[in-house]
Amino acid sequence: MAFEGLSERLQKAFAGLRRKGKVTEDDVREAMREIRLALLEADVNFGVVKDFVKDVREKAVGAEVLDSLTPAQQIIKIVNDELTKTMGETAVPLNKSPHIPTVIMMAGLQGAGKTTTVGKLSKYLMDNDHARPLLIAADVYRPAAIEQLKTIGNQLNVPVFDMGTDVDPVEIVRQGMAQAALQKNDYVIIDTAGRLQIDDALMTELDNIKALAHPDEILLVVDSMTGQAATDVAKGFNERLDITGVVLTKLDGDTRGGAALSIRAVTGKPIKFVGQGEKMDALDVFYPDRMANRILG
Ligand code: GDP
Repeated sequence: MAFEGLSERLQKAFAGLRRKGKVTEDDVREAMREIRLALLEADVNFGVVKDFVKDVREKAVGAEVLDSLTPAQQIIKIVNDELTKTMGETAVPLNKSPHIPTVIMMAGLQGAGKTTTVGKLSKYLMDNDHARPLLIAADVYRPAAIEQLKTIGNQLNVPVFDMGTDVDPVEIVRQGMAQAALQKNDYVIIDTAGRLQIDDALMTELDNIKALAHPDEILLVVDSMTGQAATDVAKGFNERLDITGVVLTKLDGDTRGGAALSIRAVTGKPIKFVGQGEKMDALDVFYPDRMANRILG
């Protein structure tokens, strides 16, 4: 379950405030110290923690809060609002092109869950938008990736365009797009190659695919279990590719939650979906307010 540790620590900080009838500035300072530690332990980006604590403290020490009848509740509300704001306030829907096809390019490091997410996203679009997607297998570096995508395509009854592993990925995308035009697919989802880490050859390849396909959406898939590293990866990809959104995978196994809390603030780009399991239906729209409620328990 995500945010286990953070929820527990925040509850403790709030219990301290609740016990007091009257809350002083010192009490707020002590609670903020605990909240700061809780966020750092949850692997939230340091700069994000700093801004978060500063904003909450400024709002919480005001006379309206401290002199009110329910100071602890008001401080909890301030933390809740700030968590929601940090994660982006509201859910951001997928971009949709006015003309078919809407092109979604997927990017991410190896193992992040990119290929799985291509399948989940196809299912999501079919269930919610009656989509007829074409999947393009442009990950030519991991031979198993193409087979994996075909298996997922078979399972979901979605066509997969591939040309094996010996063709330039940009050429695969060019021909895949031509096929989508012929077959009037309304969505094209491009599965690109991953690497173990960000490298220049990968970024150049992704840039070239982007220039050819003019994607409406560039979704970066990152593994939430890698915590701050996920945030750094998102920053790196965004600087090179100007992504339009993030899919945060493996939230089901992430007990800390630092990436969910940091990515929006660090990159300025929204988390659009979260992956919460290996099955094809384990993809959910990311709602910052619901996530904040979940953290506060
Ligand atoms: P890729 O290299 O980025 O294409 O990664 P894959 O799609 O092959 O996924 C790597 C592993 O992560 C696979 O075993 C997936 O089943 C698993 N995976 C992907 N998304 C999730 C998720 O949201 N939750 C869990 N628990 N596992 C996931």
